[in-house]
Amino acid sequence: MMNSALQYPIFGSEIQCPHCHQTIPALTLTDTYLCPRHGAFEANPQTGELIHLQSGRHWRRWDSQWYRQHTHPDGIRFEIHEALDKLYTQGYRATRVIIARRYKDLMSGYLERSTPWRNGGGDNGASRLYGLPVEFSPEAVDDPCWEVINFDLEKEPGVPVRYPYFRLFE
Ligand SMILES: [Zn+2]
Repeated sequence: MMNSALQYPIFGSEIQCPHCHQTIPALTLTDTYLCPRHGAFEANPQTGELIHLQSGRHWRRWDSQWYRQHTHPDGIRFEIHEALDKLYTQGYRATRVIIARRYKDLMSGYLERSTPWRNGGGDNGASRLYGLPVEFSPEAVDDPCWEVINFDLEKEPGVPVRYPYFRLFE
């Protein structure tokens, strides 16, 4: 008799589709999950990634959540922009962005640099994104979630957003 765990891809008999969050089944004896709306996703046992075959998007999972793995700075910037919007509507103000260290090379050149005019130091100018100070995460060996998640936002309570005001930005 076959060990039933071996019949399924690395993420088990079913997963949540990273796009629509529906529970979708694995196809037995393959590495494939099939979403009725988004088609086939393939698990890669070597990298621990899930790949959407149609778009070529890669995902990794942390704490039952999928995190898209970016290959272009615009993808990360867009995701951070969305998270800032969401934070704002929840009544918080972001004070700092922490981006996963694995994106450091990718993001260099895409961050705003404030000129270190006061100290005159070469590369000491703080990087910014959407006006917020940017830091890179600790190494993933020290904190494994940084192998998967893309960024984190530090926040503080802000001015609550009133609905009609928010409407202006829809
Ligand atoms: Zn789907």
